[in-house]
Amino acid sequence: MEIKLVGVVGAGQMGNGIAHVFALAGYSVLLTDVSEDSLAKALATIEKNIERQVSRGKVLPADKRAAMERIKTTLRLADLGQCDLIIEAATERETVKQAIFEDLLPHLKPTTILTSNTSSISITRLASRTDRPEKFMGFHFMNPVPVMQLVELIRGIATDQETWETLHEVVRKLGKTASSSEDFPAFIVNRILMPMINEAVYTLYEGVGSVKSIDESLKLGANHPMGPLELADFIGLDTCLSIMNVLHEGLADTKYRPCPLLTKYVEAGWLGRKTQRGFYDYRGEVPVPTR
Ligand code: NAD
Repeated sequence: MEIKLVGVVGAGQMGNGIAHVFALAGYSVLLTDVSEDSLAKALATIEKNIERQVSRGKVLPADKRAAMERIKTTLRLADLGQCDLIIEAATERETVKQAIFEDLLPHLKPTTILTSNTSSISITRLASRTDRPEKFMGFHFMNPVPVMQLVELIRGIATDQETWETLHEVVRKLGKTASSSEDFPAFIVNRILMPMINEAVYTLYEGVGSVKSIDESLKLGANHPMGPLELADFIGLDTCLSIMNVLHEGLADTKYRPCPLLTKYVEAGWLGRKTQRGFYDYRGEVPVPTR
């Protein structure tokens, strides 16, 4: 099936990155969010990020102009009815995602493929509440989308072969690499990454090390490009907590228990870079550890 018009639901850090790479690859993109402010910010971020690629000689100025013209925004979910492919990239909460698909369904053409960029929620369960579980898949981009090479493709129990092959072809056209994961909590990347981040928060919580010593230890001692707490701030602490909850509930193993300190940061609204405070405070010139 040929994909031309792509709808992206949620214009946060993932949604704007997804719109960016699809528009540069020649797809028309319709980006929607509940917040007008998020849509305006997303367009400004996409513009700034493509401009950075232009200044590095990776994108031609004319291609940037064409890509920006391919992105349209709307506050009305119903406007996505004619899309060939929809990528849901809203907040990591199952009720939010379910409500989005429920509201979308009456407006969709029968051939539209539905996907979710969820980091952890069951694709089979999300799909089962739609009228097209065979045309539903997990489409998991990595952050930051324009930079990261991998896209995890997650097949729900009912996903058909045509949908699977169509998305493989889309990933190829984006110039990225697909990996396939079975539909179990948090799939592959986050099943391995999140318990490490959660353990780093426990290491902080138990006083084994400070934010600085934990991040430096993993960077210099394990050759990680970012420390785990720095990475958690980058992902968003609310998203990290949601993924740990999905692992804990979905696999019923206490080893996935979210660290109470992670919960406390989220309750404080200290969600990392997106709110300017998390394990680091980003309001000044340089990030300052908060513990
Ligand atoms: P974010 O908080 O930056 O953005 C979420 C956006 O969704 C916000 O703009 C919000 O206004 C919007 N939204 C909320 N409810 C909505 C609704 N009903 N309709 C339309 N828009 C709505 O979050 P994010 O980091 O971009 O994460 C989005 C999704 O991508 C989540 O499922 C997350 O698990 C997944 N993801 C995140 C990362 C990461 O590193 N942050 C990586 C891969 C996947």
